[in-house]
Amino acid sequence: MHNETVCDQDPMQWLERALLSSPQRSFLHTPAGRSVRYEELESATRRIAAALRGLGVVKGDRVAVAVEKSVEAVFLYVACLRMGAVYMPLNTAYTTAELEYFLSDAQPRLFIAGAAQADAGLRGAAARGGIRVLTLEADGSGSLSESLARCENPAPDPDHRGDDLAALVYTSGTTGRSKGAMLTRANLSFGTQRLVEAWGFTADDVLLHALPLFHVHGLFMALNTVLASGASMLFMARFDAVELLRLLPQASVLMGVPTFYTRLLSRPEFTRESVTSIRVFICGSAPLLPETHREFSARCGHAILERYGMTETMIIASNPLHGERKPGSVGLPLPGVEVRISDPGGGIGMIEVRGTNVFQGYWNAPEKTAADFRPDGFFVTGDLGYFDAQGYLHVAGRAKDLIISGGFNVYPLEVEEAIDALPGVMESAVIGLPHADFGEGVTAIIVAAPGASLSERSVIEALKGRLAKFKLPKRVLFIDELPRNAMGKVRKQALRSAHARLYG
Ligand code: AMP
Repeated sequence: MHNETVCDQDPMQWLERALLSSPQRSFLHTPAGRSVRYEELESATRRIAAALRGLGVVKGDRVAVAVEKSVEAVFLYVACLRMGAVYMPLNTAYTTAELEYFLSDAQPRLFIAGAAQADAGLRGAAARGGIRVLTLEADGSGSLSESLARCENPAPDPDHRGDDLAALVYTSGTTGRSKGAMLTRANLSFGTQRLVEAWGFTADDVLLHALPLFHVHGLFMALNTVLASGASMLFMARFDAVELLRLLPQASVLMGVPTFYTRLLSRPEFTRESVTSIRVFICGSAPLLPETHREFSARCGHAILERYGMTETMIIASNPLHGERKPGSVGLPLPGVEVRISDPGGGIGMIEVRGTNVFQGYWNAPEKTAADFRPDGFFVTGDLGYFDAQGYLHVAGRAKDLIISGGFNVYPLEVEEAIDALPGVMESAVIGLPHADFGEGVTAIIVAAPGASLSERSVIEALKGRLAKFKLPKRVLFIDELPRNAMGKVRKQALRSAHARLYG
């Protein structure tokens, strides 16, 4: 909404630069032995861009994509960047009804999906909306590749501007309908340049890519950073701790969500010897527990570099590559990204962000866009947080997860950290549930470590010296596993719904 800085470098210039310096350089390789050089990325994406044009896609058209992670899906994304189509990634786990909503809201020219996603009902809905459906399977087969075979004449790329839309990314909202965040080429290039600088990416890096491609973390943070630095990727179809451990010695960087790191820690064979090739372990998308940070350092000698971003803002803050990486903090705002805390009552307030990294607003939702921006252009993230004395940012959780009990603010993360530090606790989620006396009752949901003997009473007793009375859980429930989404975020809304009547 408020992007006065010019785009540093258009995303297509990344590829041009890599081609000029070393076309033979590896762009990616897979554990199964497939490898793609930068010059092949160039020719494959030229062909796909030509095929998209042949299918009637013009600059500015949305191309909705719900496919399994694959090398061809990477090509498709870069082809859209090349020809100026607006890439719209969708989680393959969405139901037909959800996909129908995204298609009718975004009105893409094309919907490219695996056969499993593009069922008869969806095809009918797409046809009624004038949306053409093509298939793309993980092995590259499907009607998209048939259109490629018919396409002979690659056309030149159009001119691009920083304020052209590059992507429409639906946020993984847990309440209400998710909204499409409009991201421009300048948003992508600015965010990516900052990451290349902040994390010291060079053409010698090999990123172990195990994240999904339907979310900004795996799609933009990971892929764009590789492209912009001419680095290469070891490309896994999905995260698997055992396979990842096997591949780690071939990589120099891992980007992951906290679950990657807790799963690695659960493997006894993960040791200092496993990480000799790794330059940096990066983590984001959900809070990394200080416990995990410390355990990881103790186990393998690496302090995980935690960073903070969101779909609407790309990257906001990062712990430094050189300098202190603080457990429990998301680090310092990146250069050119302004971060402020509004109404910091007691130090904690709403995190607001302004900069060329910030998106243009929500698709088809001018009221929501207007409500989420301050008049001076700051975007209201919906996250609560504070700066510590060294200027490091700490995220205290989503504002909608804040618990107000008896008139007092209770920040779930603070209570979760106190609970997670108790012996026998593996992890926890703290939520507020409707309570006749207190408005909301602080409620802890705990996953106990195997063999631990914990009870509701023992947990509350143990917390008594550590937390003020109003922050103590009124009830403690035990569960085998916390519900999480694909990015490892705990689905608190699901927990609130499941236990809505706990206090009567
Ligand atoms: P998404 O748009 O799906 O990337 O989700 C963005 C949200 O994830 C942010 O608004 C935060 O609530 C959360 N998030 C991302 N990174 C972190 C982090 N390092 N620590 C805590 N929360 C995070």
